[in-house]
Formats: sequence, structure tokens, C-alpha cells
Amino acid sequence: MASNDYYRTLGVPRNAGPDEIKTAYRKLAMKYHPDRNQGNKEAESTFKEINEAYEVLSTPEKRQVYDQYGAEGLKAGAGGRGGFGGFQGADLGDMFGDLFENLFTQGQGGGGRGRPRSRRGADLKYEAEITLEEAFSGVKVPVNFDRTELCEECDGTGARGRTGIKKCPTCHGAGRVQYSQGFFAFSQACPDCGGQGEVISSPCKACNGAGRQKKRATINVKIPAGVEEGSVLRVSGGGDAGLKGGDSGDLYIQVGLKHHPHFERQGRDLVYDAQVQVWQAALGGETDVPVIEGGRVKIRIPAGTQHGKVFRVHDQGMPSPGGKGRGDLLVKVKLEVPHDLSPRQRELFEELAKLAGHEAPSQDGDKDKGFFKKILG
Ligand SMILES: [Zn+2]
Ligand SMILES: [Zn+2]
Repeated sequence: MASNDYYRTLGVPRNAGPDEIKTAYRKLAMKYHPDRNQGNKEAESTFKEINEAYEVLSTPEKRQVYDQYGAEGLKAGAGGRGGFGGFQGADLGDMFGDLFENLFTQGQGGGGRGRPRSRRGADLKYEAEITLEEAFSGVKVPVNFDRTELCEECDGTGARGRTGIKKCPTCHGAGRVQYSQGFFAFSQACPDCGGQGEVISSPCKACNGAGRQKKRATINVKIPAGVEEGSVLRVSGGGDAGLKGGDSGDLYIQVGLKHHPHFERQGRDLVYDAQVQVWQAALGGETDVPVIEGGRVKIRIPAGTQHGKVFRVHDQGMPSPGGKGRGDLLVKVKLEVPHDLSPRQRELFEELAKLAGHEAPSQDGDKDKGFFKKILG
């Protein structure tokens, strides 16, 4: 053992918390794992050192002894098992296997104590696409998705009936094994049953002992009024079932908005393009525009309204996600130039043109040519 300074081995300060220690350990363990460093003796011994350091620093009792008495304190006393599970000896493989299983499958918490080998289920992410109207009023949408659920056959135990489970022979059902170290007695989770006190002797046929199965699930997700495009809603516990009593993961629903034929959303405001006839814009008048709740409202177009002018209709936009207040409806004027004029309309436009000092082109083909010549040349 090159270094007996476990903190230095893991590169953490002496007051590091459990999470910091675990993170540092994971990083190093990944880097020096034998699978990644085949045939590299130095990596192998480093790997053993960081495991030794982690084993001590992640176990509060051992860490306390180590902090007080140093590594010698841990090794002192009661020969017998010679140190904790015998770092130096033939048990290495077993101990690392156990540690690794805990660390890399457990996902969260624990650190090898309490409920080893229980694992939180995975979080899942799905999308729900709704209409603007649904986003306006809020909606409950069914979301269909695949997730891993507890096996109904064995209720998640993974065993065939109660007889498929037997008491763990290593810890005799206690779930923990004891070590004596002179004055100190320590217990740690039983490596053979992962602290469950039971092992499966006959696996459940439906899930092959996994305790979980893929299922198609439907959850009605309540999407609040005013939801923004891309918002993510969390359904706590809606994800994959946990393993060995672990909590279920969460379900995340990302909200997408379908394209709307009339309105474009700008935050809490809605934008509507209103077609306005040239004479309406010139003379002024009224027009009506649709609103998101259904129906239409009248707006006044003042005389001389220009193309692109925006009128604001207060409180006809989207609600705030918090439930207070509403955005506005922005009505944007799109001037429409009439085509397919009737003879009478044409006459009137020609008159307008004359009044403005423009000579109107005739509808006659020859004169049209003349008109273009005049413009171009
Ligand atoms: Zn089962
Ligand atoms: Zn056991």
C-alpha cells in the first residue's frame, strides 16, 4: 500500500462530505478500472488503493476510527479476519464486486449501507403535443409510453412464490455481517444477499427473476393553462419501477404546441394578421378578428392606417402560467390590394389616379406596351 492517506488517494479534503467522496471515487475508479487498463500493473495497484480508501471513507464508523487512529487503527487488534474484509488478501475480488455493484447500479444514496442493491428506477421522458386552444385553457392529455413496472406475478420479488425465497445462508437472514476490531465491533451489509437477508432460490417464471417487466402505460397528464412551448412537466414516480424496493423514477413530459392556423404566439401575446382592404385603411372603419376563446371581436381601423400597423387588443392573449393576468392580442394590418376589378371599380381607381396626378394605363394591349415603355425608358 503506497499511501495510507486515504484523503490524498481520493484527492478530497479531510472534511469532504459523502457525495464528494463518492464522486471523486467514481471518477478515479472509472479511470483505473482493470477492464480499461488490461495488463497495466500500476493501474491495478492504484485501483486497489482507491478502493481501499473509499471503503474506509465511505463507511462512517471506519472513517471515524481512521480519522482518530489512522490506517493502523483500522488494522489493529483482533487478527481473525485481519482488517476489514481483508483488503490485502484473497477477498479482494469479492469485495470489489460488491462495491462496484453498489456504486454503479445503485444510482443514488446509500453508498453501500442501509439498502444496498436497491436501485431507483430510471427517469423517462416523453412528449405531448397540444393545440394552442388546449394550452390556453389547460388540458388533461393521455400519454402512452413504455416503462418498466413491478412484475405482477411475483410482486417484484423476482421469486416464484414464497417458497422461491430462502433465508440467506451467509448472514442467516440478518442482512448484515459483523466484524470485531479489538474494542470496536462493526457490521456491514451482507455481501451475498445485499442486505436483504433473503436470496432467491427459485426465480419467478414471468420475469425470470428480474422482478420487473416492460409494460405499456397510459397516464393522464394535467397540462396547466398558459403552458409554454417546450415546458417540461414532472410526474413524480411515473418512470421505471425501482429495483429491490428502490423508488420509481420520474416521468418528464415535454410540451409541444401544434401550429395554429390564425395565431402566432409571442410569449403571453398572440399575433394575428388581419387582411384590411385598401379603401378600408384609407377611409377608416371596423373589422372583426378571431379570438383564442372562440368567436370574434370588433376592432376599429382609423382612417389612414398603414400596412404593418399593429393594434393591441388588451387581455385577449394567453393566460400566465401562474394563473394571474393575460397577454394581449396583437392585430397586425396586412393591406390587401384588390384584383379582378369590376369596370366600375376600375373607373373609380382611374379617377383616384388622375386626382393624384397619375395617368392610368388603358386596358388595351398596345397601350400597355406603351405604358411599360414609359416606365422603363
Ligand atoms: Zn416476476
Ligand atoms: Zn445475507
